[in-house]
Formats: sequence, C-alpha cells, structure tokens
Amino acid sequence: MNLPLPAALLDSLAGSKGYDPDAFIAVHGSGRQVTSIRINPGKIATEEIQRHLEPVHTEPVPWSRYGLYLSERPSFTFDPLFHAGTYYVQEASSMFVEQALIKACDLATSLHVLDLCAAPGGKSTHLQSLISKESLLVSNEVIRARTNILKDNIIKWGGGNVVVTHNDPKDFEALEGFFDVMLVDAPCSGSGLFRREPEAIAEWSEQNVALCSQRQQRILADAWPALKPGGVLIYSTCSYSNAEDEQILDWLCKELDAESVRVPIQDGTGIIESELNGAYGYRFWPDKVKGEGFFLCCLRKKSGTEAQYIKIRKKPTYLTAAEKTMTANWLDIGDMALIKHEQTVYAWPEAMADVYSLLMQQLRVSYSGIRLGELMRDKMVPDHALALSGRVGAGIVRAELDKAAAIAYLQRKDLPEVPPGKGWQLAAYQGHPLGWMNVLPNRVNNYYPRDLRILKDFPGAGTGKNSTSL
Ligand code: SAM
Repeated sequence: MNLPLPAALLDSLAGSKGYDPDAFIAVHGSGRQVTSIRINPGKIATEEIQRHLEPVHTEPVPWSRYGLYLSERPSFTFDPLFHAGTYYVQEASSMFVEQALIKACDLATSLHVLDLCAAPGGKSTHLQSLISKESLLVSNEVIRARTNILKDNIIKWGGGNVVVTHNDPKDFEALEGFFDVMLVDAPCSGSGLFRREPEAIAEWSEQNVALCSQRQQRILADAWPALKPGGVLIYSTCSYSNAEDEQILDWLCKELDAESVRVPIQDGTGIIESELNGAYGYRFWPDKVKGEGFFLCCLRKKSGTEAQYIKIRKKPTYLTAAEKTMTANWLDIGDMALIKHEQTVYAWPEAMADVYSLLMQQLRVSYSGIRLGELMRDKMVPDHALALSGRVGAGIVRAELDKAAAIAYLQRKDLPEVPPGKGWQLAAYQGHPLGWMNVLPNRVNNYYPRDLRILKDFPGAGTGKNSTSL
C-alpha cells in the first residue's frame, strides 16, 4: 500500500485548472503504469522498432512524432537496440517540449539551443532529433556525477552537433545573447512522479516546494542574459505546485520581460491549458493524459542585449596531412573537420569550428562533436563514441552478432564464436553498431566500455543463441 498523497499538496491544488481530487487520488492508488519510448530518427525507423518490439504493442504519443507507448514494459537492459541508442525510454508527458519548439521556432534554420538542466539527457536527445544538422545544442549539467550520465547518453544518441558542458547557470553570462532557444527543465519538488516513484511521497514538503521555487527563479535569472532578444525560453517541471509552475511563469513575464507563447493542443489528449494574467501554461494530470505529472510553458524574450563579439584566443589544432591519412577510413567525414586535443581526435562540424572554440574558451566543456579516438604512433585507436556516432566509414567491417553474442559483448564477456576476419570491427546487432572489438586469430578483444557494461546475468543465456525475444 502506497503512502497517502500529502494533504498539504492536495489542499494547495484546489482551484488549479483541471484538478479533479477524486480522479487524481484514484489514479495514484490504481497501480497503473505507463511505459513509453522515443525513437532516434537518426538511427532507426518507427516501423523497424515496432517490428523489433513485437509482441509488445505500440501506439503513438499524440504530441511527439517520435514517441511510442508500449503495451507492456520489456527488459530494456537485455535489448541490444536500446544500447545501440536507437531509442530512449522516456516519460510521455515530457515529450510535449516538441510542440513548444515547433510552435515557437523555425526548426529548418540554424539555431543555438541550450538545455540548461540536461542530465540524464531525455530532453537533450529529443532536442537533437528536432533541430537541423546545422544547429548547435549545448547540453549542460551542473552536477558533476550527472554530467557523465548525460555525456554517455549524448554519445549513445550519435550525431556531432552537441557540446556537453558542466557549468553553473550563472556561467552562461559569459555568452550574452548567444542562444536562440533555452530549455530550463528545472530541478523541482517532483510531485509529478509520485505515481511512478511512490517513495518520493515521503520526501515532499511545503518547505521544499518554496525552496525549489526560489531556486527556479535563481536559475532562470542567472541564465536569462544568455538568451538573445526574441529568443525562446521553454520552462518545465515535474511538479504540480503552482509556486513552481504558473507563479514562475507570471514572474518571468513581469520580472524578466518575457511574453507568453501559446502552444496548440490537439483535442482529446487531455492536456490542460492554464492561464494566469494572460500567460499560458500546459498541465499534464495523470488522470487526464497518458503520462505523468508535468508542466510546461513557452515564452519569448522581449528585450535584452544582442550577442557581443568575443575574441577567440585559441584556434583548434587541425590534424596534419599524415594524421588525416591515419584517420581517413574511420569516419564518413562529410562536413566535419578533424581537430585534436593532445592525442585525442575529435570531429567538429566544420562550419561551427569557431563556435565550438568559443564554447571551449567560455565554458567547462566535457564533450564536443564526435570523439574519434587516440593517435598512437602511426595508427588511431577508435573511441566508443565513434562506433555509436552513426558516421563510421563504409570501409569498416561490421560483425553482425546474434542476440546471445550481442548480450555477451555488452556484458564485456568473451563472444561465443570468433567472427571471421581480423583487426578492428564494429560489433553490430540487426545492423546497429554497439561498439568496437579487435578480432585476433583465436580470440576477440572486447572494447565495450567497462562502465557501460551490463552487470546482470542474461536470463536468455542458454536458451538458444538466436533467441530474439526481449
Ligand atoms: N532535462 C532532464 C531530462 O529530460 O533528462 C532532466 C532534468 S532534472 C528535472 C533537473 C536537473 O537540474 C538535474 O539534472 C539536476 O542535477 C539539475 N540541477 C540541480 N540543481 C541545479 C541548479 N542549481 N542549477 C542548474 N541545474 C540544477
């Protein structure tokens, strides 16, 4: 039996638009859970993932072209396509960010986008799927340990137009007027996740709501100068509390000179549009939508300072002709430029090399573009990020593994059989790269990153290596 919902929370919600106390309490006691994923359009088509997930049935999330509800929760841990970054397991309500972005921006243009509170990366990977290839996403997380998870998820998603940073919101002052879009998915009191995480109920307090509300204002005020005039702010929380939702929206309009952008909502979705002093917010009540509790609002900055010219003090170090030859086959280079930091080679979008240098200078960058590998004498040792980038050169051998071998690979164990050929190969499952291995005459060196390996035993081991059930 779950803890009852906090009475002070229920009292505070009286009068909130769309709040139906009986239905709200009932849905929290129902034990009903919703599972949803968002596919990576850079790696897989919806039909392919639907076939792969069978017999699990899928249904589209109405507010995201990439979102799918699943009729039951499969074991994602033992699905190699999950580890290949073909989809992200994400709560459906959060995917509404897509509608705000579509409404407020021209996504065909080149945009500078900041995801300020980004870890573990749900919304960042979503933003990356929505912006153009010519755009830049700066995905930031202030807490160091969480920056690593964010980086892993960005690498898994692939693509080269993301820079991961580890900065306090205040540090973005150094980039005044730089961003066209800023997403602040703020740390909050978390009541919206009570159905999924009932243990959080005990931690809720009115005091914490007040503290969160103050912190949200501080985060927004600190980062605000980095948004250009006319730029778009998307603010969201997973809290039901007015003090963290509509009241923050109202404060943004009054104190930071922002205007509300109305986001269209499709009939029948159950999303509730709330209004306070002419500004609009979008509420997701779990008894009305198929998803968890969530709040989002979208605003445009009315005034402020345009981006100022900042001198780049250090240009990147480009590879020499000899080094380029060493790396030539590894990457489908397209519009990327190869640069190095000590002996590590990165691919950066060529047209954005100055912008990336500027970010390196002004922020604490943890990851940028695609990390290709390490130069060692006359060779390059490939990096895991390259394997997952979706841009490995066509000449590199892919070894197709069956399910049992793919799981053994992801557990960093020996493979059941040594694949033909020798040297570096991409371990792949159903055509999707999982990582690197170095094939020797009678064994395989498994280069799957130790920190990412599956630690659990595979329940399907020994049930036949061609088993495909999840
Ligand atoms: N956007 C993420 C996603 O979709 O996967 C979830 C973000 S979570 C709601 C809020 C994030 O804000 C956490 O990663 C947390 O570490 C970070 N955070 C905590 N305190 C912060 C602060 N003072 N300033 C900025 N971010 C903070």
